[in-house]
Amino acid sequence: MLDSYGRNIDYLRLSVTESCNLRCRYCVPENFLPCNDIMTESEILCAVRSAVSVGIMKVRITGGEPLMRADILSVCEGIAGIPGVRELCITTNGTFLAGMAEALRRSGVQNVNISLDTLDPQRYEYLTRGGSIAHVLAGIEAAVSAGFEKVKVNAVLIGGFNDDEIERLAGLSYEFPVDVRFIELMPSGFCGQNDFVSCDEVLKRLPGAVSSNAGGGRVHTAALPGEGTAELYHLPGALGNIGLIRTVSRIFCPNCRRIRLTYDGKIKPCLHSSEEIDIKGMSEEGMKNAFARAVMMKPPVRPGFFLGRRTMNMIGG
Ligand code: SAM
Repeated sequence: MLDSYGRNIDYLRLSVTESCNLRCRYCVPENFLPCNDIMTESEILCAVRSAVSVGIMKVRITGGEPLMRADILSVCEGIAGIPGVRELCITTNGTFLAGMAEALRRSGVQNVNISLDTLDPQRYEYLTRGGSIAHVLAGIEAAVSAGFEKVKVNAVLIGGFNDDEIERLAGLSYEFPVDVRFIELMPSGFCGQNDFVSCDEVLKRLPGAVSSNAGGGRVHTAALPGEGTAELYHLPGALGNIGLIRTVSRIFCPNCRRIRLTYDGKIKPCLHSSEEIDIKGMSEEGMKNAFARAVMMKPPVRPGFFLGRRTMNMIGG
């Protein structure tokens, strides 16, 4: 469906829980307590059907940590079975993936994004407040073996924390057939300008990286068609690509295709706007009208960086 500014909104980011087994310092408050008022499986499927009826074709499941939901495989299977859903993806911290990758693939998930900001076990434990990197690495291997169409590893760049690991993280694209994507840290309640590292730093540190954009060259000024928000590069001989996601240093809004639904049934027309439409308890027809209204409410451009009363785990990054 076209919004008021002529953008085709066909991508739903669907948060299925606010719970997470990790407490990443830039994302979740240490003492965060989930409220448990999450959408049921049938509410989620009803919402996705409604969203599809107004033009959504791609769904990314996120959270919180989506694999913490006991019924996640059934939710995925249900979404994959909705006529009109052409692409089903999931974003996970990877810690439960080793035991679930094959079942997730069988449930109809096509692509998986795994968040991993450091390859140092102690740093990982510190950043996540207790997580074990071994589980994530096993999850990456399992995802590769399970035959997803695409496996991506996402690393948020954090100044003074992991900016000395850019080459090492990029090296995962030699070890596995995965795209390694570097994401600029967005300001939130727990991090700010001092932690910011631009994606330009990645290009400085990987001088051999060649643009995967048609025509080559290393200068990108616009989002690549079909690749959404990532600028793509390739290291010679690597099995996967390097992606740069300039969440801060570039404004993607003119190419935005997204709308969001939170775990508690609120449609968010824009990540950085406090506007929400509550669809919990609505009929499918009511939800359909609400999605159509939310599409038309999308602002032309993000109104700054603002997560409102929600932290990132409550919206779905
Ligand atoms: N638990 C899943 C995971 O870890 O991927 C999904 C939810 S998590 C909120 C989704 C993504 O949001 C993660 O890759 C995380 O690094 C990213 N994220 C959270 N806060 C962020 C921030 N301030 N700036 C950039 N990315 C952020």
